[in-house]
Amino acid sequence: MAPVIGVTATLKQDLDSVAERPLGSYVRADLDYVAGVAQAGGVPLVLPPIPGVAEEMARGVDGLLLSGGSDLDPAYYGEEALPELGVTIPERDALEMALLEHALKRGIPVFGICRGLQVINVALGGTLYQDLPTQLGGGSIAHRQQTPKWQWTHEVETEGGSNVAEIMGARSLRVNSYHHQGVKDLADGLVVSAHASDGVVEAVESSNLSECWLVGVQWHAEAMRDAESAEHRNLFAAHVAAAERHATRRRAAA
Ligand code: MN
Repeated sequence: MAPVIGVTATLKQDLDSVAERPLGSYVRADLDYVAGVAQAGGVPLVLPPIPGVAEEMARGVDGLLLSGGSDLDPAYYGEEALPELGVTIPERDALEMALLEHALKRGIPVFGICRGLQVINVALGGTLYQDLPTQLGGGSIAHRQQTPKWQWTHEVETEGGSNVAEIMGARSLRVNSYHHQGVKDLADGLVVSAHASDGVVEAVESSNLSECWLVGVQWHAEAMRDAESAEHRNLFAAHVAAAERHATRRRAAA
């Protein structure tokens, strides 16, 4: 049976009138998360950011994909907002933090993309740079590219022996880059599995992968699946395969 992969949605808001109720929940189609899951043989299930159902949602999926999007409220890592902080969506932050906690408790394989990597790091106790250009100053390369999302703009170096290096089959990768935040203090339980030339963390994974499949990448792998190499598709395939193994174990235990 194809594993069900929960893909977290965001809220569409009229930002000119913050008092208005959100217009709806959605997963961006130009950033092709659901197509990435389906291409890998999983069944994508969009999870809207509504309160109070995180545990039930976690129970209903075999894998969890934390998608990209707005900035996480820095209160989750004990900081006040800097002027450069972007839009935050409290409903989404609350659902994803709770969802991740329940997913990890149940051993559900988790794949985080861009914001998803950042949510993983913070949920496990790490912190973020709220804004790389101002906080890293002149030492930072451009992590907010101005070219189409399927184009790479910087290289990343994977750590030898890491799960990400093995999945992608390469030590040096070309990736797109659409983030202004990044990992500052790495959470316990995570290891860095790729970094950019300026030292910015570009991928993380669980330090105990046999017990918990957990991978986060800072680039938008879903938008690079059609690149000539299979590297980015391989991330989706590895996540769906881990979810399938989890589902099989769960059925056997039932
Ligand atoms: Mn980057």
